Amino acid sequence: MLGRWLVRTFVDRPDDTASSHSRAQYGKLEGWVSVAVNLVVFVAKLVPGLVVGSIALIADAFHSLGDVASSAVVIWGFTLAEKPSDREHPFGHGRIESIASLVVALLLVLTAWEFGKASVGRLFHPHPVTAPWWLLILLLATLLAKEWLARFSLAVGRRIASNVILGDFWHHRSDVLATAVVMAALVGSRLGLPWVDGVGGVVVSGFIAWAAYALVRDSVDPLIGEAPSPELLEEMRALALSVPGVEAVHDLIVHRYGGLLVASLHVEVSAKLDIAQGHDIAEAVEARLNERMAGWSVVHVDPVDREHPLWEPIRAFLDAEMARLPGRPTYHDLRIAGGEPCYVIFDLNTNGDPPPTLVPDLAARIRRAFPTVAKVQILLEPRYVY
Ligand SMILES: [Zn+2]
Ligand SMILES: [Zn+2]
Ligand SMILES: [Zn+2]
Repeated sequence: MLGRWLVRTFVDRPDDTASSHSRAQYGKLEGWVSVAVNLVVFVAKLVPGLVVGSIALIADAFHSLGDVASSAVVIWGFTLAEKPSDREHPFGHGRIESIASLVVALLLVLTAWEFGKASVGRLFHPHPVTAPWWLLILLLATLLAKEWLARFSLAVGRRIASNVILGDFWHHRSDVLATAVVMAALVGSRLGLPWVDGVGGVVVSGFIAWAAYALVRDSVDPLIGEAPSPELLEEMRALALSVPGVEAVHDLIVHRYGGLLVASLHVEVSAKLDIAQGHDIAEAVEARLNERMAGWSVVHVDPVDREHPLWEPIRAFLDAEMARLPGRPTYHDLRIAGGEPCYVIFDLNTNGDPPPTLVPDLAARIRRAFPTVAKVQILLEPRYVY
């Protein structure tokens, strides 16, 4: 309810989750709301802590103040990621989002470590903690506030598919779980179960550590260079195929810089077209992709010439071979040059680690099946080509 109102009030175009401006508005909203909630929780714990002179409560209050750091990184990350491109960074600053989410993940690792250390200590030296009931009610109130914040962050993080915000969500959720352990420990020692504190703490810190590990992994992948999603590849293929004259699409390469995509691909057109006609088709594919994918694409044109008498038999032979080979490789750009003897040339895409014998074996089988083939040249494509 409140979350929806916040989004409607502070995000100009809530349906736009791709543009860097809209993402930044979502991200900064989550960051500032988190800062505000944590400051309220800080005061709500500090004031009673000072009044009754409870060191534990005052320390917990300052822990909540420390949580602001994670949300500050979110705000910082989205502010920088939104910056337009400049001379040094022509692809823009979208990948700063990944760096920010790595920082948030490392803060989460730190939280898991500190909490785990304290909990193991409690495990070996359990000491009963006593607290008045009003403290339980206060803790419950802060827990509910943090749980609302966690859910708000999760909704925003999922909406714009942002690892930074999902990291901040995990931070809020870990605080909720930690507070729940404190409450369980307070109730536990009233019931004569002093071990609840340590055991609960170890379980929760293990959980936080696992979330932190997943977040580190997810934020590092885009920086290393990750595989494009099958959905994106399918969408690009469909867009290219929707241009009249495009018979097939292959060799897609995609680079992602935050919301910006830079891609290249090959389109197969009839060899009977002249260069100007082929170029027109390539331009049309580029225009369609650039308009839909928010980025830049380069299209390479492959003329398909089926005139050679061996073209159709070799195509059928290769189709059968591909179905037989492990990992179901694909091939394209089949060209047959010369009469008798002739040359067979094509690209092979295995999208994996093919056995070293794959290419020579395949070439030998083609030559055995078609005695007039003098030479087979197979180009094995690298893994980032789809
Ligand atoms: Zn090609
Ligand atoms: Zn051109
Ligand atoms: Zn190729």
